[in-house]
Amino acid sequence: MILFDLKCRNDHVFEGWFRDGAAFDEQTSARKIACPICSSRKVAKAVMAPRIGKGPAEAVGEATRKTAVAMRGLAELRRKIEENCDYVGDRFAAEARRIHEGESDRQGIYGEATDEEAGELAEEGVEFARIPWVPRHQG
Ligand SMILES: [Zn+2]
Repeated sequence: MILFDLKCRNDHVFEGWFRDGAAFDEQTSARKIACPICSSRKVAKAVMAPRIGKGPAEAVGEATRKTAVAMRGLAELRRKIEENCDYVGDRFAAEARRIHEGESDRQGIYGEATDEEAGELAEEGVEFARIPWVPRHQG
């Protein structure tokens, strides 16, 4: 069965199910199809209105879903870091350097560093990671 959008000579648009394209041709030429509004039997296939395809909508949904998964991952990462690491605020670069030099027993720290500080740490071979800090979930 196929569904056609039909239009009568008075521009009434309606839908009709047909066994196949040939059945549609046969029934229209035999004037067996009547407009449900004005009963006109001069019916033809309507020009299909543009519809939003499944493709783009699905692509957007997929991107949104991936972003959501990434955000959840980052939120989880943030939670783990907050649980297991000491927050050192803007002293991050100095503290990371002390750990690197063996002057501190701290295992893990987190805090803020400027791009310049991060660049210096990288040059000195200090191990650290920069992660996007996502907002905590409310509640
Ligand atoms: Zn009609």
